[in-house]
Amino acid sequence: MTEPSHNPFANLEVPVEEDYLHCIRCGTCLYNCPTYRESVRETDSPRGRIFLARKVLEGEAKLTPNLIEQMYRCLACGACNEICPVGNRPADMALQLRWLAQQVEPAGWKQVVFHQLLAKPGLMELGTLPLRLYQLLGFRTVANALRLTSLLPRQLRDMERQLPKVPARPARSRVPSITQATGQGAPKSRVGYFLGCAQNLLFYPGATAVVRVLARNQNQVVTPESAQCCGMPAIGYGDWDALRAFARHNVQLFEKLDVDVIVTDCATCGSTLKEYKHYLASDPQWAERANAFSSKVQDISEYLASCDLVKPEGRVEGRVTYHDPCHLVRAQRVSAQPRKLLQLIDGLEFVEMNEANWCCGSAGSQIITHYETSMAVLDKKMANVAATEADYIASGCPGCQMQLTVGVKRSGLRAKVVHPVQLLDWAYEQHQR
Ligand code: SF4
Ligand code: SF4
Repeated sequence: MTEPSHNPFANLEVPVEEDYLHCIRCGTCLYNCPTYRESVRETDSPRGRIFLARKVLEGEAKLTPNLIEQMYRCLACGACNEICPVGNRPADMALQLRWLAQQVEPAGWKQVVFHQLLAKPGLMELGTLPLRLYQLLGFRTVANALRLTSLLPRQLRDMERQLPKVPARPARSRVPSITQATGQGAPKSRVGYFLGCAQNLLFYPGATAVVRVLARNQNQVVTPESAQCCGMPAIGYGDWDALRAFARHNVQLFEKLDVDVIVTDCATCGSTLKEYKHYLASDPQWAERANAFSSKVQDISEYLASCDLVKPEGRVEGRVTYHDPCHLVRAQRVSAQPRKLLQLIDGLEFVEMNEANWCCGSAGSQIITHYETSMAVLDKKMANVAATEADYIASGCPGCQMQLTVGVKRSGLRAKVVHPVQLLDWAYEQHQR
Protein backbone atom coordinates (compact mmCIF):
# COMPACT_ATOMS: atom_id res chain seq x y z
CA MET A 1 0.00 0.00 0.00
CA THR A 2 1.54 3.31 -1.04
CA GLU A 3 1.34 6.42 1.10
CA PRO A 4 -0.77 9.36 -0.17
CA SER A 5 1.36 12.08 -1.73
CA HIS A 6 1.41 15.88 -1.41
CA ASN A 7 2.31 16.11 -5.10
CA PRO A 8 -0.66 17.42 -7.14
CA PHE A 9 0.42 15.15 -9.96
CA ALA A 10 0.14 12.03 -7.81
CA ASN A 11 -3.60 12.10 -7.36
CA LEU A 12 -4.82 10.91 -10.68
CA GLU A 13 -8.16 9.53 -9.68
CA VAL A 14 -11.59 9.99 -11.12
CA PRO A 15 -12.83 13.16 -9.41
CA VAL A 16 -15.07 12.52 -6.41
CA GLU A 17 -17.39 15.37 -5.59
CA GLU A 18 -17.54 14.67 -1.84
CA ASP A 19 -13.84 15.50 -1.58
CA TYR A 20 -14.58 19.05 -2.58
CA LEU A 21 -17.67 19.81 -0.53
CA HIS A 22 -15.46 21.07 2.24
CA CYS A 23 -14.51 24.41 0.66
CA ILE A 24 -15.50 27.00 3.25
CA ARG A 25 -14.94 29.80 0.69
CA CYS A 26 -12.53 31.50 3.07
CA GLY A 27 -10.40 32.93 0.24
CA THR A 28 -7.06 32.02 1.86
CA CYS A 29 -5.96 30.53 -1.46
CA LEU A 30 -6.76 33.56 -3.61
CA TYR A 31 -3.61 35.69 -3.34
CA ASN A 32 -1.41 32.60 -3.31
CA CYS A 33 -2.65 31.74 -6.77
CA PRO A 34 -0.57 33.30 -9.58
CA THR A 35 -3.43 33.31 -12.09
CA TYR A 36 -5.83 35.02 -9.66
CA ARG A 37 -3.16 37.52 -8.65
CA GLU A 38 -2.92 38.57 -12.29
CA SER A 39 -6.56 38.66 -13.37
CA VAL A 40 -8.38 39.08 -10.03
CA ARG A 41 -11.20 36.98 -11.52
CA GLU A 42 -12.93 34.42 -9.34
CA THR A 43 -12.96 31.82 -12.14
CA ASP A 44 -9.16 32.16 -12.31
CA SER A 45 -8.80 31.24 -8.63
CA PRO A 46 -8.56 27.90 -6.82
CA ARG A 47 -11.88 28.63 -5.09
CA GLY A 48 -13.52 29.41 -8.43
CA ARG A 49 -12.12 26.28 -10.06
CA ILE A 50 -13.41 24.13 -7.22
CA PHE A 51 -16.82 25.74 -7.55
CA LEU A 52 -16.94 25.08 -11.30
CA ALA A 53 -15.75 21.51 -10.90
CA ARG A 54 -18.35 20.83 -8.24
CA LYS A 55 -21.12 22.15 -10.48
CA VAL A 56 -20.00 19.73 -13.22
CA LEU A 57 -19.78 16.78 -10.85
CA GLU A 58 -23.20 17.53 -9.40
CA GLY A 59 -24.67 17.74 -12.90
CA GLU A 60 -25.55 21.43 -12.65
CA ALA A 61 -23.08 22.59 -15.30
CA LYS A 62 -21.89 21.11 -18.57
CA LEU A 63 -18.26 20.48 -19.37
CA THR A 64 -18.22 23.31 -21.90
CA PRO A 65 -15.04 24.54 -23.65
CA ASN A 66 -15.19 27.71 -21.53
CA LEU A 67 -15.31 25.76 -18.32
CA ILE A 68 -12.47 23.46 -19.38
CA GLU A 69 -10.47 26.52 -20.36
CA GLN A 70 -10.52 27.63 -16.69
CA MET A 71 -8.91 24.32 -15.80
CA TYR A 72 -6.27 24.78 -18.50
CA ARG A 73 -5.52 28.31 -17.28
CA CYS A 74 -4.36 26.76 -13.99
CA LEU A 75 -0.55 26.56 -13.86
CA ALA A 76 -0.76 23.41 -11.70
CA CYS A 77 1.80 25.02 -9.42
CA GLY A 78 0.27 23.45 -6.30
CA ALA A 79 0.43 26.63 -4.17
CA CYS A 80 -3.29 26.33 -3.36
CA ASN A 81 -2.98 22.72 -2.19
CA GLU A 82 -0.33 23.82 0.25
CA ILE A 83 -2.26 26.68 1.80
CA CYS A 84 -5.88 25.51 2.02
CA PRO A 85 -6.80 25.27 5.74
CA VAL A 86 -9.30 22.44 5.23
CA GLY A 87 -7.09 20.34 2.96
CA ASN A 88 -8.78 20.96 -0.37
CA ARG A 89 -6.64 20.28 -3.41
CA PRO A 90 -7.78 22.61 -6.20
CA ALA A 91 -4.70 21.89 -8.32
CA ASP A 92 -5.60 18.18 -8.42
CA MET A 93 -9.18 19.04 -9.28
CA ALA A 94 -8.11 21.11 -12.29
CA LEU A 95 -6.03 18.19 -13.61
CA GLN A 96 -8.84 15.73 -12.96
CA LEU A 97 -11.30 17.87 -14.92
CA ARG A 98 -8.86 17.90 -17.83
CA TRP A 99 -8.93 14.11 -17.71
CA LEU A 100 -12.72 14.13 -17.59
CA ALA A 101 -12.82 16.36 -20.67
CA GLN A 102 -10.50 13.94 -22.47
CA GLN A 103 -12.91 11.07 -21.65
CA VAL A 104 -15.89 12.99 -23.00
CA GLU A 105 -14.16 14.24 -26.13
CA PRO A 106 -10.79 12.62 -26.89
CA ALA A 107 -8.54 14.85 -28.99
CA GLY A 108 -6.88 13.16 -31.97
CA TRP A 109 -3.65 15.15 -31.75
CA LYS A 110 -2.95 13.67 -28.31
CA GLN A 111 -2.92 10.20 -29.84
CA VAL A 112 -0.16 11.31 -32.24
CA VAL A 113 1.90 13.35 -29.75
CA PHE A 114 1.67 11.22 -26.61
CA HIS A 115 1.32 7.73 -28.05
CA GLN A 116 3.66 8.08 -31.04
CA LEU A 117 6.06 11.03 -30.93
CA LEU A 118 7.00 11.15 -27.23
CA ALA A 119 7.25 7.37 -27.11
CA LYS A 120 10.08 7.36 -29.65
CA PRO A 121 13.16 9.44 -28.77
CA GLY A 122 14.52 9.01 -32.33
CA LEU A 123 11.34 10.45 -33.81
CA MET A 124 11.48 13.42 -31.45
CA GLU A 125 15.07 14.06 -32.47
CA LEU A 126 13.99 14.03 -36.11
CA GLY A 127 11.23 16.49 -35.22
CA THR A 128 13.81 19.05 -34.06
CA LEU A 129 15.72 18.87 -37.37
CA PRO A 130 14.17 22.07 -38.85
CA LEU A 131 15.07 23.90 -35.64
CA ARG A 132 18.62 22.61 -35.72
CA LEU A 133 19.01 23.65 -39.35
CA TYR A 134 17.55 27.10 -38.55
CA GLN A 135 20.17 27.63 -35.86
CA LEU A 136 23.16 25.70 -37.19
CA LEU A 137 23.02 27.09 -40.73
CA GLY A 138 23.07 30.61 -39.32
CA PHE A 139 19.48 31.61 -40.14
CA ARG A 140 18.89 32.52 -36.49
CA THR A 141 21.96 34.78 -36.37
CA VAL A 142 20.94 36.50 -39.60
CA ALA A 143 17.32 36.88 -38.48
CA ASN A 144 18.43 38.45 -35.21
CA ALA A 145 21.06 40.69 -36.82
CA LEU A 146 18.52 42.03 -39.32
CA ARG A 147 15.89 42.24 -36.55
CA LEU A 148 13.61 40.01 -38.63
CA THR A 149 12.39 38.29 -35.48
CA SER A 150 10.82 41.60 -34.41
CA LEU A 151 8.37 41.11 -37.30
CA LEU A 152 7.04 37.94 -35.69
CA PRO A 153 3.92 38.03 -33.50
CA ARG A 154 4.96 38.60 -29.85
CA GLN A 155 4.19 35.04 -28.85
CA LEU A 156 6.36 33.49 -31.58
CA ARG A 157 9.11 36.02 -30.92
CA ASP A 158 9.23 35.04 -27.25
CA MET A 159 9.15 31.35 -28.14
CA GLU A 160 12.09 31.91 -30.47
CA ARG A 161 13.94 33.70 -27.65
CA GLN A 162 13.13 30.92 -25.22
CA LEU A 163 14.96 28.32 -27.25
CA PRO A 164 18.45 27.53 -26.10
CA LYS A 165 21.02 26.82 -28.78
CA VAL A 166 19.88 23.48 -30.17
CA PRO A 167 22.89 21.15 -30.27
CA ALA A 168 23.92 19.48 -33.51
CA ARG A 169 23.61 16.12 -31.79
CA PRO A 170 21.27 15.22 -28.92
CA ALA A 171 22.69 14.36 -25.49
CA ARG A 172 21.80 10.68 -26.05
CA SER A 173 24.59 10.41 -28.56
CA ARG A 174 27.09 12.28 -26.35
CA VAL A 175 26.63 10.65 -22.97
CA PRO A 176 28.07 7.12 -22.85
CA SER A 177 25.75 4.35 -21.71
CA ILE A 178 28.24 3.67 -18.89
CA THR A 179 30.50 6.33 -17.38
CA GLN A 180 33.03 5.04 -14.88
CA ALA A 181 33.78 6.81 -11.59
CA THR A 182 36.84 8.97 -12.13
CA GLY A 183 38.40 8.88 -8.64
CA GLN A 184 40.43 6.20 -6.88
CA GLY A 185 38.88 3.03 -5.45
CA ALA A 186 35.60 1.25 -5.96
CA PRO A 187 32.52 3.25 -7.03
CA LYS A 188 30.27 4.33 -4.16
CA SER A 189 27.06 3.76 -6.11
CA ARG A 190 25.77 2.66 -9.47
CA VAL A 191 23.56 5.57 -10.49
CA GLY A 192 20.96 5.45 -13.27
CA TYR A 193 20.61 8.80 -15.04
CA PHE A 194 17.14 9.48 -16.44
CA LEU A 195 17.86 11.67 -19.43
CA GLY A 196 14.63 13.60 -20.00
CA CYS A 197 13.40 14.89 -23.37
CA ALA A 198 14.39 18.53 -22.81
CA GLN A 199 17.90 17.68 -21.63
CA ASN A 200 18.34 15.29 -24.52
CA LEU A 201 17.18 17.67 -27.22
CA LEU A 202 18.07 21.10 -25.87
CA PHE A 203 20.21 21.06 -22.73
CA TYR A 204 23.10 18.73 -23.42
CA PRO A 205 25.65 20.91 -21.52
CA GLY A 206 23.53 20.40 -18.38
CA ALA A 207 23.25 16.66 -19.04
CA THR A 208 26.98 16.18 -19.57
CA ALA A 209 27.69 18.30 -16.44
CA VAL A 210 25.46 15.99 -14.38
CA VAL A 211 27.34 12.92 -15.57
CA ARG A 212 30.77 14.51 -14.92
CA VAL A 213 29.83 15.66 -11.41
CA LEU A 214 28.43 12.23 -10.51
CA ALA A 215 31.52 10.43 -11.87
CA ARG A 216 33.88 12.84 -10.11
CA ASN A 217 32.14 11.98 -6.88
CA GLN A 218 32.91 8.32 -7.34
CA ASN A 219 29.67 7.10 -8.90
CA GLN A 220 29.37 4.82 -11.88
CA VAL A 221 26.71 6.38 -14.11
CA VAL A 222 24.40 4.33 -16.33
CA THR A 223 22.43 6.30 -18.94
CA PRO A 224 19.95 4.24 -20.97
CA GLU A 225 19.35 5.48 -24.51
CA SER A 226 15.80 4.25 -24.76
CA ALA A 227 14.15 6.08 -21.84
CA GLN A 228 10.80 7.52 -22.90
CA CYS A 229 9.15 10.76 -21.85
CA CYS A 230 8.39 10.77 -18.09
CA GLY A 231 4.71 11.36 -18.89
CA MET A 232 4.11 14.83 -17.44
CA PRO A 233 2.94 16.41 -20.73
CA ALA A 234 0.33 13.63 -20.96
CA ILE A 235 -0.85 14.36 -17.40
CA GLY A 236 -1.17 18.04 -18.24
CA TYR A 237 -3.46 17.22 -21.14
CA GLY A 238 -5.51 14.58 -19.34
CA ASP A 239 -4.17 11.52 -21.19
CA TRP A 240 -3.48 9.13 -18.33
CA ASP A 241 -3.36 6.07 -20.60
CA ALA A 242 -0.31 7.54 -22.29
CA LEU A 243 1.22 8.37 -18.92
CA ARG A 244 0.81 4.78 -17.70
CA ALA A 245 2.34 3.42 -20.93
CA PHE A 246 5.42 5.65 -20.39
CA ALA A 247 5.60 4.55 -16.76
CA ARG A 248 5.55 0.83 -17.61
CA HIS A 249 8.25 1.29 -20.25
CA ASN A 250 10.58 3.24 -17.95
CA VAL A 251 10.07 0.94 -14.95
CA GLN A 252 10.97 -2.09 -17.08
CA LEU A 253 13.97 -0.34 -18.61
CA PHE A 254 15.55 0.64 -15.29
CA GLU A 255 14.81 -2.74 -13.68
CA LYS A 256 17.28 -4.28 -16.14
CA LEU A 257 20.04 -1.84 -15.18
CA ASP A 258 20.28 -2.90 -11.55
CA VAL A 259 21.07 0.59 -10.26
CA ASP A 260 21.13 1.75 -6.62
CA VAL A 261 19.53 5.10 -7.33
CA ILE A 262 17.87 6.86 -10.28
CA VAL A 263 18.64 10.56 -10.63
CA THR A 264 17.19 13.24 -12.85
CA ASP A 265 18.19 16.87 -13.33
CA CYS A 266 14.67 17.83 -14.41
CA ALA A 267 12.25 18.79 -11.64
CA THR A 268 9.29 17.90 -13.84
CA CYS A 269 10.61 14.43 -14.68
CA GLY A 270 11.47 13.81 -11.02
CA SER A 271 8.02 14.78 -9.78
CA THR A 272 6.49 12.33 -12.27
CA LEU A 273 8.89 9.42 -11.86
CA LYS A 274 8.46 9.53 -8.07
CA GLU A 275 4.72 9.03 -8.55
CA TYR A 276 4.80 6.00 -10.86
CA LYS A 277 4.03 4.02 -7.70
CA HIS A 278 0.69 5.83 -7.50
CA TYR A 279 -0.09 5.74 -11.20
CA LEU A 280 0.36 1.96 -11.40
CA ALA A 281 -0.85 1.14 -7.87
CA SER A 282 -4.07 -0.49 -9.04
CA ASP A 283 -2.35 -2.70 -11.61
CA PRO A 284 -1.40 -5.96 -9.84
CA GLN A 285 1.28 -6.74 -12.42
CA TRP A 286 3.03 -3.43 -12.01
CA ALA A 287 2.28 -2.01 -8.56
CA GLU A 288 5.25 -3.54 -6.76
CA ARG A 289 7.67 -2.90 -9.61
CA ALA A 290 6.58 0.73 -9.89
CA ASN A 291 6.94 1.14 -6.14
CA ALA A 292 10.51 -0.21 -6.29
CA PHE A 293 11.30 2.15 -9.18
CA SER A 294 9.86 5.27 -7.53
CA SER A 295 11.60 4.58 -4.24
CA LYS A 296 14.95 4.89 -6.07
CA VAL A 297 14.23 8.23 -7.78
CA GLN A 298 15.95 11.40 -6.53
CA ASP A 299 16.49 14.83 -7.94
CA ILE A 300 20.18 15.31 -8.74
CA SER A 301 20.49 18.02 -6.05
CA GLU A 302 18.84 15.73 -3.51
CA TYR A 303 21.26 12.92 -4.29
CA LEU A 304 24.40 15.06 -4.41
CA ALA A 305 23.54 16.88 -1.16
CA SER A 306 23.23 13.51 0.56
CA CYS A 307 26.71 12.42 -0.62
CA ASP A 308 30.03 13.21 0.89
CA LEU A 309 30.85 15.58 -1.99
CA VAL A 310 34.38 16.41 -3.08
CA LYS A 311 34.86 20.15 -2.46
CA PRO A 312 35.44 21.88 -5.84
CA GLU A 313 38.94 23.35 -6.10
CA GLY A 314 37.99 25.94 -8.67
CA ARG A 315 36.00 29.12 -8.27
CA VAL A 316 33.05 30.69 -10.03
CA GLU A 317 33.08 34.42 -9.48
CA GLY A 318 29.77 36.26 -9.23
CA ARG A 319 26.46 36.46 -7.53
CA VAL A 320 23.81 33.77 -7.86
CA THR A 321 20.13 33.55 -6.99
CA TYR A 322 17.92 30.48 -7.11
CA HIS A 323 14.41 30.01 -8.52
CA ASP A 324 12.47 27.08 -7.00
CA PRO A 325 10.66 25.07 -9.71
CA CYS A 326 7.13 24.19 -8.53
CA HIS A 327 7.79 20.57 -9.46
CA LEU A 328 10.74 20.51 -7.08
CA VAL A 329 9.73 22.67 -4.13
CA ARG A 330 6.05 21.72 -3.94
CA ALA A 331 5.82 18.36 -5.64
CA GLN A 332 9.03 16.94 -4.13
CA ARG A 333 9.71 19.22 -1.14
CA VAL A 334 13.26 19.79 -2.36
CA SER A 335 14.52 23.32 -1.75
CA ALA A 336 17.46 23.30 0.70
CA GLN A 337 19.58 20.89 -1.35
CA PRO A 338 20.20 23.00 -4.50
CA ARG A 339 21.04 25.98 -2.27
CA LYS A 340 23.47 23.81 -0.34
CA LEU A 341 25.25 22.85 -3.58
CA LEU A 342 25.55 26.47 -4.68
CA GLN A 343 27.00 27.48 -1.34
CA LEU A 344 29.78 24.89 -1.77
CA ILE A 345 31.31 26.92 -4.59
CA ASP A 346 34.06 29.38 -3.72
CA GLY A 347 33.70 32.82 -5.26
CA LEU A 348 29.94 32.51 -5.67
CA GLU A 349 27.82 34.80 -3.50
CA PHE A 350 24.35 33.38 -2.91
CA VAL A 351 21.49 35.90 -2.69
CA GLU A 352 17.94 34.77 -1.94
CA MET A 353 15.28 36.47 -4.05
CA ASN A 354 11.82 37.41 -2.79
CA GLU A 355 9.12 34.88 -3.63
CA ALA A 356 11.72 32.39 -4.88
CA ASN A 357 9.12 29.62 -4.65
CA TRP A 358 6.51 31.42 -6.79
CA CYS A 359 5.77 29.91 -10.18
CA CYS A 360 7.64 31.55 -13.11
CA GLY A 361 4.63 31.10 -15.42
CA SER A 362 6.13 28.34 -17.55
CA ALA A 363 3.93 25.37 -16.59
CA GLY A 364 5.11 23.50 -19.67
CA SER A 365 3.34 25.11 -22.56
CA GLN A 366 1.64 28.19 -21.04
CA ILE A 367 3.79 30.51 -23.17
CA ILE A 368 2.01 29.02 -26.19
CA THR A 369 -1.46 28.45 -24.79
CA HIS A 370 -1.85 31.35 -22.32
CA TYR A 371 0.73 33.89 -23.35
CA GLU A 372 -0.54 36.98 -21.51
CA THR A 373 -0.86 35.30 -18.12
CA SER A 374 2.42 33.45 -18.54
CA MET A 375 4.28 36.70 -19.28
CA ALA A 376 2.59 38.64 -16.46
CA VAL A 377 3.60 35.96 -13.95
CA LEU A 378 7.11 35.93 -15.43
CA ASP A 379 7.50 39.71 -15.18
CA LYS A 380 6.82 39.55 -11.43
CA LYS A 381 9.46 36.85 -11.08
CA MET A 382 11.98 38.91 -13.04
CA ALA A 383 11.40 41.99 -10.85
CA ASN A 384 12.41 39.82 -7.89
CA VAL A 385 15.44 38.52 -9.80
CA ALA A 386 16.50 42.04 -10.79
CA ALA A 387 16.48 43.17 -7.14
CA THR A 388 19.19 40.60 -6.34
CA GLU A 389 21.53 41.94 -9.05
CA ALA A 390 22.52 38.34 -9.69
CA ASP A 391 24.94 37.30 -12.43
CA TYR A 392 23.46 33.80 -12.47
CA ILE A 393 19.90 32.52 -12.06
CA ALA A 394 20.06 28.86 -11.09
CA SER A 395 17.07 26.57 -11.44
CA GLY A 396 16.71 22.81 -11.61
CA CYS A 397 14.07 22.54 -14.30
CA PRO A 398 14.53 22.99 -18.07
CA GLY A 399 11.02 24.44 -18.44
CA CYS A 400 11.82 27.12 -15.85
CA GLN A 401 15.24 27.69 -17.44
CA MET A 402 13.63 28.40 -20.83
CA GLN A 403 11.02 30.70 -19.29
CA LEU A 404 13.65 32.58 -17.24
CA THR A 405 15.72 33.01 -20.40
CA VAL A 406 12.78 34.83 -21.99
CA GLY A 407 12.46 36.82 -18.76
CA VAL A 408 16.12 37.89 -18.88
CA LYS A 409 15.65 39.20 -22.43
CA ARG A 410 12.30 40.87 -21.69
CA SER A 411 13.68 42.66 -18.67
CA GLY A 412 17.03 43.60 -20.22
CA LEU A 413 19.07 41.80 -17.55
CA ARG A 414 22.49 40.30 -18.19
CA ALA A 415 22.15 37.31 -15.88
CA LYS A 416 22.90 33.83 -17.21
CA VAL A 417 20.35 31.07 -16.60
CA VAL A 418 21.90 27.76 -15.53
CA HIS A 419 21.22 24.50 -13.74
CA PRO A 420 22.86 24.51 -10.25
CA VAL A 421 24.88 21.40 -11.17
CA GLN A 422 26.44 23.27 -14.11
CA LEU A 423 27.91 25.81 -11.70
CA LEU A 424 29.25 22.97 -9.58
CA ASP A 425 30.73 21.38 -12.69
CA TRP A 426 32.40 24.67 -13.70
CA ALA A 427 33.96 24.91 -10.25
CA TYR A 428 35.26 21.35 -10.61
CA GLU A 429 36.53 22.12 -14.08
CA GLN A 430 38.07 25.37 -12.77
CA HIS A 431 36.12 27.44 -15.28
CA GLN A 432 35.97 31.15 -14.72
CA ARG A 433 33.04 33.29 -15.71
S1 SF4 B 1 -10.12 26.10 -1.55
FE1 SF4 B 1 -9.47 26.13 0.63
S2 SF4 B 1 -8.40 28.08 0.88
FE2 SF4 B 1 -9.58 28.24 -1.03
S3 SF4 B 1 -11.54 29.16 -0.44
FE3 SF4 B 1 -11.86 26.93 -0.34
S4 SF4 B 1 -11.39 26.37 1.78
FE4 SF4 B 1 -10.56 28.44 1.50
S1 SF4 C 1 -2.37 25.22 -8.91
FE1 SF4 C 1 -1.51 27.30 -8.87
S2 SF4 C 1 -2.46 28.34 -10.64
FE2 SF4 C 1 -3.70 26.45 -10.25
S3 SF4 C 1 -5.39 27.11 -8.91
FE3 SF4 C 1 -3.72 26.39 -7.56
S4 SF4 C 1 -2.50 28.21 -7.07
FE4 SF4 C 1 -3.79 28.73 -8.85
